[in-house]
Amino acid sequence: MPGQSRFADLEPLLERVQKPIQYVGGELNSTVKDWNCGGHGPDESELTVRWALMYPDAYEVGLPNQGVMILYEVLNERPDALAERTYAVWPDLEGLLREAGVPQLTVDGHRPVGDFDIFGVSFSTELGYTNFLTALDLAGIPLHASERTEGHPLVIVGGHASFNPEPIADFVDAVVVGDGEQAVLELTDLVAAWKSRGRKGGRAELLAQVARSQLAYVPSCYEVDYHPDGRIRRVAPKPDLGGVPWRVAKHTVTDLDAWPYPKAPLVPLAETVHERMSVEIFRGCTRGCRFCQAGMITRPVRERSITGIGEMVERGLSATGFEEVGLLSLSSADHTEIAAIAKGLADRYEGSQTGLSLPSTRVDAFNIELANELTRGGRRSGLTFAPEGGSERLRRVINKTVTEDDLVATVAAAYGAGWRQVKLYFMCGLPTETDDDVLQIAALAAKVIETGRRVSGQRDIRCTVSIGGFVPKPHTPFQWAGQLAAGATDARLRLLRDTIRADRRYGRSIGFRYHDGQPGIIEGLLSRGDRRVGAVIEGVWRDGGRFDGWSEHFSYERWMRAAAEAFDGTAVSVDWFTTRERDRREVLPWDHIDSGLDRDWLWEDWQAALAEQEVDDCRWSACFDCGVCPEMGTQIEIGPTGRVLLPLSVSSGARQRLSEPPTAVTSVSSDSVAEVGQRLT
Ligand code: SF4
Repeated sequence: MPGQSRFADLEPLLERVQKPIQYVGGELNSTVKDWNCGGHGPDESELTVRWALMYPDAYEVGLPNQGVMILYEVLNERPDALAERTYAVWPDLEGLLREAGVPQLTVDGHRPVGDFDIFGVSFSTELGYTNFLTALDLAGIPLHASERTEGHPLVIVGGHASFNPEPIADFVDAVVVGDGEQAVLELTDLVAAWKSRGRKGGRAELLAQVARSQLAYVPSCYEVDYHPDGRIRRVAPKPDLGGVPWRVAKHTVTDLDAWPYPKAPLVPLAETVHERMSVEIFRGCTRGCRFCQAGMITRPVRERSITGIGEMVERGLSATGFEEVGLLSLSSADHTEIAAIAKGLADRYEGSQTGLSLPSTRVDAFNIELANELTRGGRRSGLTFAPEGGSERLRRVINKTVTEDDLVATVAAAYGAGWRQVKLYFMCGLPTETDDDVLQIAALAAKVIETGRRVSGQRDIRCTVSIGGFVPKPHTPFQWAGQLAAGATDARLRLLRDTIRADRRYGRSIGFRYHDGQPGIIEGLLSRGDRRVGAVIEGVWRDGGRFDGWSEHFSYERWMRAAAEAFDGTAVSVDWFTTRERDRREVLPWDHIDSGLDRDWLWEDWQAALAEQEVDDCRWSACFDCGVCPEMGTQIEIGPTGRVLLPLSVSSGARQRLSEPPTAVTSVSSDSVAEVGQRLT
């Protein structure tokens, strides 16, 4: 019977694997619905649309993923749908599953992934592609979409990597581009209607409907022609499929307050990368950092209101028992009401164990008042900033408009206020970069230490420099740039390391962490590759490639071997896809995926980068005509709202500071917070 739990088959294998707890499910706030929840009896089981959702990495990385958590909850709220989760199994369990003939299972109901209607996979990074193939294979789903039949789930992918899905085009049925929460509901409607019509027209008809509806990109509905020199001539809808669009547009959710998910975040059973609850305080970023794909593809900025944030924090904490709340976004200190949010939350939770954090803070948006609110009553361990480029010249190229004076003034204020450690993130291999740009990182770190010692009067000041290779990404102004070769990246990083070590005065106070250049080249191949790269991914997977995002599993040699085989006799190579600069006219593999960004605007911004010209943030200044808002019918959604975030339940420490009598405040319910907030101010 489809949908039966296979836990009895899995359980005996678990005592032979590392971390068996990650496969058992049953987390707080997880859901296992009846397999036939959409109907009222076995005959009506067809009325349910069932999703198996995967984050293609280990449980400890996948469970905290907000995207999967949101879709899981949004789908399970529907009476006629169910969603369960699955994560990548480590090679030890993979071997045992194969031996025992047990398929890829969900962690919720331990049901075979192959029994579901839809297998939905969210890719934050391209290095999850081999794990995706493992899951397909273990689930008994043919790797190639063309070989799937009526009995197989639809394989639908999404996430940031899906803005160039071409390298995995052969393995997927459809691709949701952009925000997923509304799209999965509409896809559920479409599949439900098709099922209720007795699956009329079969799988091919369903996919054609998906393609025509523009809900998702269906790679099999398009064909790609190439020039003899390897470049793409064009990507076009197949002529026999009427109504399939030439370009597929991203989905954009507006009014984040209408989507307060996850309402009840999952609480992991095993240790995970983030032991905290996250509340997304805004989506999108218009700072215009030219290297940042996330910022470009999530435009425009859409802020959640201060009251919406307050309610999500309160509800989430009581649903989970977490003691830390991360205020999540691409640049959290940029929220127009961040000061009031931080103060309001610090007031509300003062005296409790609840801590607050901003996972990403720009140097120029940071201020000590904000940091003080976030660490009120807590330890001031470390602050992290990301200047990204070592020299001011390079920061103009990447449009990260932070001057050295800004950075030094910020760290001086931080050290003066009691912090002892600062972490600085940089990239190596940025367009136009020279050795000198990178060596300026050493000088900057020394200046940070010197400033810290002077301001604090202490010698135990530390600065850690963390640096990785830059990978040019689709839908950014750097999509045309040549990537720095792995050897050149490594040589530049060695030079920097030796320079820091040779600094007798400050070198010992500077920590240095770097990633070598080889994984970046493979990420570059997968990011800017086209359909021909699919053979490389499959070759690596067949050669044992798994968990490529983990340094202990990643093998550059395996990737290069598979690429040499796949590209043998063709005009393309790994270098062709990575270190080659493209010209304006070249058809890029992702040109038919519409992120809303105007191609001419991106090109002009690339030229502005080469001319070291900066562009302002449209959140605070005029529109720079990137194309997103008119193209997508959206607009920036920001405050200030003028509202305040009031404590819903007041701790004794916070009560002292409120000007109104405590009874007026303690009677506030979460439903009426906005209204009472107006009254009290
Ligand atoms: S269209 Fe204008 S306002 Fe909208 S994101 Fe682009 S630059 Fe900003």
